[in-house]
Amino acid sequence: MLKKKPVFKRVVLKLTGESLQGHKGAGIDLKVARSVARQIKEIKELGVDLACVIGGGNIFRGLQAAEEGMERVTADYIGMLETVINSLALQDALEQEGIYTRVQTAIEIQRLAEPYIRRRAIRHLEKGRVVIFAAGTGNPYFSTDTAAALRAIEIGADAILKATKVDGVYSQDPAIYPEAKKFTRLKYIDVLKKRLQVMDATAISLCMDNHLPIIVFNLMRSGNIKRVILGEGIGTKVS
Ligand code: UDP
Repeated sequence: MLKKKPVFKRVVLKLTGESLQGHKGAGIDLKVARSVARQIKEIKELGVDLACVIGGGNIFRGLQAAEEGMERVTADYIGMLETVINSLALQDALEQEGIYTRVQTAIEIQRLAEPYIRRRAIRHLEKGRVVIFAAGTGNPYFSTDTAAALRAIEIGADAILKATKVDGVYSQDPAIYPEAKKFTRLKYIDVLKKRLQVMDATAISLCMDNHLPIIVFNLMRSGNIKRVILGEGIGTKVS
């Protein structure tokens, strides 16, 4: 049987902070971080360039804190720092799997990580390293989804792989509405018009303007990142 080939040369994997918390209510479950790292290893073995962006929702959500009275900008900076914590945890898990990684931050924290330098990030990818982009875009009022879209465009990625807890985009929340319909393909404009929960509007617009496909898939099923990379048509493709 012919071996399947990757359909992408370079991708950005967007993980939510929540995806690291596993069954814990918050924080980082190292077992989950390691299982994500093992899935990433499978992709590296296929020779695909991979960068990651991870959120911070398992520790802190800026918007929520702002709703509870904290100044929005401060709350967002705390949120960005939390993504650095998650990025370091992911880096450790990847290194335990023998994968070379570099963390680059949008807010300089030089003792811990490199500052984000586009050409340097590309060089790391060319050398087979996984680059983790931390601290979002470095700006308040943005999200890590927007950071993923921005970095993906900057480094010339072929797609964003948006990892979630469900197996794609639905017309309604499938956990509440069992009759919800799953989409296999969607247009950016429909995501915006129907306000579907894929990524926030800023991130979607950025992808739309730069023709960057988004593939939404379930991270909880082991081997799914590889299935997406091999073009197995799981999840929902937004293009
Ligand atoms: N954040 C920000 N600017 C950015 C990226 C993130 O201000 O460019 C803050 C924002 O407060 C956000 C938090 O960092 O709530 C964590 O990111 P996000 O909510 O995107 O994480 P996820 O939902 O993916 O875990």
